[in-house]
Amino acid sequence: MMIDPKIACERLIDKLREDGITDERVLDTFRKAPRHRFVTDPRAYDNIALAIGSGQTISQPYIVALMTQLLELNEKDLKILEIGTGSGFQTAILAQFSRRVYSIERHRELGDKARLLLREMGYENIVFKIGDGTCGWPQWSPFDRIIVTAGAPVTPESLADQLAVGGIMVIPVGDSSVQDLMVYEKKEDGLKIKYMAGKVVFVPLIGQQGWNECLNG
Ligand code: SAM
Repeated sequence: MMIDPKIACERLIDKLREDGITDERVLDTFRKAPRHRFVTDPRAYDNIALAIGSGQTISQPYIVALMTQLLELNEKDLKILEIGTGSGFQTAILAQFSRRVYSIERHRELGDKARLLLREMGYENIVFKIGDGTCGWPQWSPFDRIIVTAGAPVTPESLADQLAVGGIMVIPVGDSSVQDLMVYEKKEDGLKIKYMAGKVVFVPLIGQQGWNECLNG
């Protein structure tokens, strides 16, 4: 039997702190996004990625916390573009920090499920789209922050174009087996590498400016 989710969540937060997550505001958002609502697996509060259907995964909690911390969400009024809604867990974390989150998922069954869950949980500042996120969402650009939660072969040009000057983008870039977690900042003269946050393993970013469809479903 799974232990009380509140206790499991506090244990997870302690583990994330031990592993180097220092932004207490990020850790606090985990309390308001009960992970067992996003993934029906008794290991929902373990620090691991888990299957969510359609061949996709809910990201490891440490990676969700790290990517959120790297986005430097210091102002409340930010517009965030998220590519790869998946279960909606990362979306819920981002929504607690921002004016509006624009979240794109290519698998309709995942995107629709996440939309219904997040509405039921009371999140009202998220706009959802089903489609290829590698092309961004020009209608709502520029974005103050962009987060990509699938591994890209290269950083999509459309996303670079749609990031506001002064904005930050966090994206895993590499081959299909391992990626570098890249943190970019947009300057007046283009996208600059701010930081490389280590090696990560993500499911592939499939699309026009990502991997070819035949890499995965
Ligand atoms: N952040 C999610 C969560 O917490 O559940 C996990 C996302 S999962 C690791 C990556 C997601 O990116 C998958 O759901 C996958 O279908 C989606 N994806 C891959 N390529 C995409 C694309 N071009 N546009 C939108 N979503 C994409």
